[in-house]
Amino acid sequence: MRLDAKMPGGPLEKKWDKHRFELKLVNPANKRKFNIIVVGTGLAGGSAAATLAELGYNVKNFCIQDSPRRAHSIAAQGGINAAKNYTNEGDSIWRLFYDTVKGGDFRAREANVYRLAQVSNNIIDQCVAQGVPFARDYGGLLANRSFGGAQVSRTFYARGQTGQQLLLGAYSSLSRQIAAGKVEMFPRREMLDLVVINGQARGIVVRNLITGEIENHEAHAVVLCTGGYGNVFFLSTNAMASNVTAAYRAYKRGAFFANPCFTQIHPTCIPVHGDYQSKLTLMSESLRNDGRVWVPKKPGDKRPPHQIPESERDYYLENKYPSFGNLVPRDVASRNAKEQCDMGKGAGETGLAVYLDFEDAIKRDGKDVIEKKYGNLFQMYEKITDQNPYETPMMIFPAVHYTMGGLWVDYNLMSTVDGLFVLGEANFSDHGANRLGASALMQGLADGYFVIPYTIGGYLTGTSLPDVGTDHPAFRDAAGQARSRINKLLSVKGKRTVDDFHRELGLIMWDHCGMGRNDEGLRKAKKMIQELRGEFWENVLVPGSDGDFNQSLERAGRVADFLEFSELMIRDALDRRESCGGHFNEAFQTEENEAMRDDENFCHVAAWEYAGDDKEPEFHKEPLVFENVELTQRSYK
Ligand SMILES: Cc1cc2nc3c(=O)[nH]c(=O)nc-3n(C[C@H](O)[C@H](O)[C@H](O)COP(=O)(O)OP(=O)(O)OC[C@H]3O[C@@H](n4cnc5c(N)ncnc54)[C@H](O)[C@@H]3O)c2cc1C
Repeated sequence: MRLDAKMPGGPLEKKWDKHRFELKLVNPANKRKFNIIVVGTGLAGGSAAATLAELGYNVKNFCIQDSPRRAHSIAAQGGINAAKNYTNEGDSIWRLFYDTVKGGDFRAREANVYRLAQVSNNIIDQCVAQGVPFARDYGGLLANRSFGGAQVSRTFYARGQTGQQLLLGAYSSLSRQIAAGKVEMFPRREMLDLVVINGQARGIVVRNLITGEIENHEAHAVVLCTGGYGNVFFLSTNAMASNVTAAYRAYKRGAFFANPCFTQIHPTCIPVHGDYQSKLTLMSESLRNDGRVWVPKKPGDKRPPHQIPESERDYYLENKYPSFGNLVPRDVASRNAKEQCDMGKGAGETGLAVYLDFEDAIKRDGKDVIEKKYGNLFQMYEKITDQNPYETPMMIFPAVHYTMGGLWVDYNLMSTVDGLFVLGEANFSDHGANRLGASALMQGLADGYFVIPYTIGGYLTGTSLPDVGTDHPAFRDAAGQARSRINKLLSVKGKRTVDDFHRELGLIMWDHCGMGRNDEGLRKAKKMIQELRGEFWENVLVPGSDGDFNQSLERAGRVADFLEFSELMIRDALDRRESCGGHFNEAFQTEENEAMRDDENFCHVAAWEYAGDDKEPEFHKEPLVFENVELTQRSYK
C-alpha cells in the first residue's frame, strides 16, 4: 500500500484555504443523517464532539472517566502557543511554523505544521469567547510567557492550570450539545475494538466499566482522540488511565502506526523518590522562564545548595546555549541533565537531580510576582517534597511526558482505515521527533475545533456508506474477541499483580528505549519484553469478576497491550539509524553530543502495518519533503 498524505498543491500559505475550498460540503439538512463516534473527551475529543454536534451531526462521545472533564488534558499546566504577536517581539505565523518544524528536528510535514500555526490564532479567539480566563497584562491584552525552543513569548496561559481552563471551555460547549440532544455521552466506557466493514470504520466495541457489559456502537465514521501512550514506561507524568489500547486495537484492524519510538522526556519533573511510586509529577516548563538550572561544578559535591557559592555552580544550559539558555527545547535540556548526572554532578542523595533555582528571580521581581505566576506549582512541589521552593531550589529530573508517535494520518487526519480519523496526541501529529512546549494543547484544539469539522465532511459526502447494523457479523466477531480476551485474563489466576508486570516493563523501556538508546540495549529489551509477556499470560493475577467495576481487569487489558506495543517501539527505534529529537541513538551523535540526523536516508515518517501476532510488522515509508525550510543541524547556541 502506498501512503498518500493527500497533501494539497500550491504555495504553503494557501494550501489549507485551497483545500477547504475544494473539500465537498455536507449541506445542513444532510448533516443530521450522519452519526459520528468520537472516542475521548480531552481537548481533542471534547472540542471535536462539541463542534461536530454544533454543525448538526449526531455524535456519540465516549470516555473512560466518570466525567468528560476528567480527561488527562486537565493536567496541562503551562500554556498554549499562538502567533498573535501581542508582545511585539516579531512573532508571526511563519516564525511559529519554523520554530515548530525545527523543534521537531525536521521530522514533521511542513504543510501540517503551517496549518497548525495558521489556526493557532483562531483557537485563542474561540477560547476567549468561551470565557477561558487567560492571564492578562497591565493593559488588558492577553499575557504571554516563553516556552522552550522559541525566542519570542507566545504562550497564552491561565496560571499553571491552562489545560484545566481550556478543558472547561470545551466541556461547556460539549454540555450545551448534550443538553440539545446532539451529543449522547457515554462516560465510563472503554473502547476495546474498532469495527471495520468493507474497509470502512463503522463502529466500536466498548466495555461498560461499571456493569462489565460489552456494547456495540455503530456510526458512519469514528474519530479517535484517545491521547498518548507514555504510560508504557509505567512511571510518567501522564494520567493513570492514559493508555494505548484504542490506538493499538485500531492498528491491529489496519491503521498504520507512525514513528512509535518518538517519545518525549520532559526535563523538569519531580525526581523518583521510591520503589512504590506509581506516578511522576511535572514541574511546568514555564518555570524555566524565571528558574535557573544548575549543578555543582565539582563532581560528588554533596553540600546543600545554599552552601555552594556562585563561583562553584555550573549553569550549564546558560553556558552551553547562550541564545536560548534555560529555554532550550525539552530533548536538549533532558539530555544535558542526564549528562551532568552521569558525570557525578547530580544533586540530592541519589545524584539523579539538578537544581531549578528561583533565588535571582525572587530578588529581581519579588516573591509576590513569582507567586502570582507559579503559585500553584510551587505549592504542589512543596506538598510532594516537603521543601519550600521559595527558599531552596527545586530538585528536578527528566521523566516520560508525551508521545510524538501515534496512528498515521493524512492531511485530513484520516488514518489508513477509511472513515477512521485520529486527533490530538493519539495521531503521529505535527511535532516531528520532539514536541515544543505548549504545542500539544494547540494541536489538540486545532484538530478538534478547526480541522476535523471540514475534513470529515469531505469524507462523508464523497463516500458510499451503506447501512450496517450492530447485528452485522463484524460486530459479533469483535465483541466475541473482546469477551474471550477478558475471560482469558481472569482465568490465569497467577501470582503477580498487573502493576508488578507493568513496573518491570516500564523499567526495561526506561533503561533501553528511553533518553539514550543503543542497538545492544534495544535488542536485549526486545527479548526481555517477549519473556515478560510470556510470563504475564501464565502468571498474572486479576482478582474479581468481569460483571462489575474492576480496575484490576481494566489495567490488565491495557498492560497486555503495552506488552505487545512496546516491541513495536523497539522495532522502530532499531530501524531508525540516526538520532533525531527524542530518539537519541548513542551511535549517532555530533562531537558536541547533539543528535545527528541522517537526512539522506531517514527524512521520512516510518509507518508500521500489523501483519499478524507472530509476524514482524511491515514497514512503509512516507518521505518528508521540505520546500520552504532548509534542513540544518539544530543549534540553540
Ligand atoms: C502534567 C502534564 C502537563 C502538560 N502541560 C501541557 C501544557 O502546558 N501545554 C501543552 O501544550 N501540553 C501540555 N501537556 C500535554 C497535553 O496535556 C496532552 O498532550 C493533551 O492534553 C492530550 O490531549 P488529547 O485530547 O489528545 O488526549 P487526553 O487528554 O489524554 O484525552 C484522552 C481521552 O481519551 C479517553 N480514552 C483513552 N483511551 C480510551 C479508550 N480505550 N476508550 C474510551 N476512551 C478512551 C480518555 O478517557 C480521555 O477522555 C501536558 C501533559 C502533562 C502530562
